[in-house]
Amino acid sequence: MPEVPISLWLWGGAWLLCLLVALVAELRRDSAEVAGPATEIGAGGDVAETSEPVQLATPGDRFARALAKSRGALAGRLREILAASPADGPLLEGLEEALIASDVGVAAATRLIGGLRERLGAGADRSALERALRDELRALLGAPVPEGVGRPDGPWVQLVVGVNGVGKTTTIGKLASRHAAAGRRVLLVAGDTFRAAAADQLAIWAERSGAEIVRQAPGSDPSAVVFDGLEAAKARGIDVVLIDTAGRLHTKVNLMEELKKVNRVIGRVVPGAPHDVLLILDATTGQNALAQARAFAGAVDVGGVALTKLDGSARGGMAVAVRSELGVPIRYVGLGEGAADLQPFDPEAFLEGLLPQADCVSA
Ligand code: GDP
Ligand code: MG
Repeated sequence: MPEVPISLWLWGGAWLLCLLVALVAELRRDSAEVAGPATEIGAGGDVAETSEPVQLATPGDRFARALAKSRGALAGRLREILAASPADGPLLEGLEEALIASDVGVAAATRLIGGLRERLGAGADRSALERALRDELRALLGAPVPEGVGRPDGPWVQLVVGVNGVGKTTTIGKLASRHAAAGRRVLLVAGDTFRAAAADQLAIWAERSGAEIVRQAPGSDPSAVVFDGLEAAKARGIDVVLIDTAGRLHTKVNLMEELKKVNRVIGRVVPGAPHDVLLILDATTGQNALAQARAFAGAVDVGGVALTKLDGSARGGMAVAVRSELGVPIRYVGLGEGAADLQPFDPEAFLEGLLPQADCVSA
């Protein structure tokens, strides 16, 4: 075997060492890459499952974000109008148009402008007008109205009504999550028996929120499902029962009759129930929602409204229209599709989201 010079041994050894170091470094980098994202996915997944980031925002932040489009539509128009001239007659007319365009509704807009006329003398300045408008809106929206859950002698029963697609089932799911988080035992009743998918959708929300569910085969009599659900709730010591219903068109008399029957059955199984009837209105449908609300109010004793899909809609003024035209309080607003996207209605935060003081024309 030929003799290898010592320099060649040294050179080869150094080269081999470099190769080994590079290999070890590469292996460490690979394992870090595998471990890195896996940890992140785990943590991110957990956060999304248990506490959605939106919960960290204050109600004010949430309203401000959800009402961005409405604010653009109303505040932008107000800025134009208010910048034009002092608060005299034509200015108030422009303001009335802007309010109507923001879905505040003709009646509410007329009432608001009437209030402003009374409050403001001729030639009031812009900041006085803004302040007065804010005060009028505040008075019109009223104080927050809690729904008063909790009864010592049986389940608290809420019947949830509204036309198709407004967000009844989704709102029930969000409500179930809220009640469960407050330590209440919740049972959902799948009273929408028209579509098989409706009970499946409710079952997903039940699983997500840890609520129990009572359902029957599609096509069953809704009153029978409600009867079974309430009997089960009494037997199991349930705190809160949320009853989903089919999206009955408010113009269909027989469907309204069916709703009345469901209402009667509830009262028979749990005397004094339903303790609340929550009407779900979709803010994006605009003034048509008011016609729906009147029809439902004619059939059942509507105790409050949840106004859904305010996120991304430019119809924030709907809250004012609903409150002033129907006289029922807005209890919740839907600000998205997730479990944490149901916000108790906070008139002050809502007003600030719609017409921010910092954003005022006079600022
Ligand atoms: P239902 O027919 O009245 O039961 O309506 P659903 O609960 O099935 O809701 C219809 C659609 O509206 C679904 O895609 C929901 O995710 C969506 N939805 C419900 N509430 C909100 C909300 O507050 N914001 C948004 N963006 N979508 C919503
Ligand atoms: Mg539904």
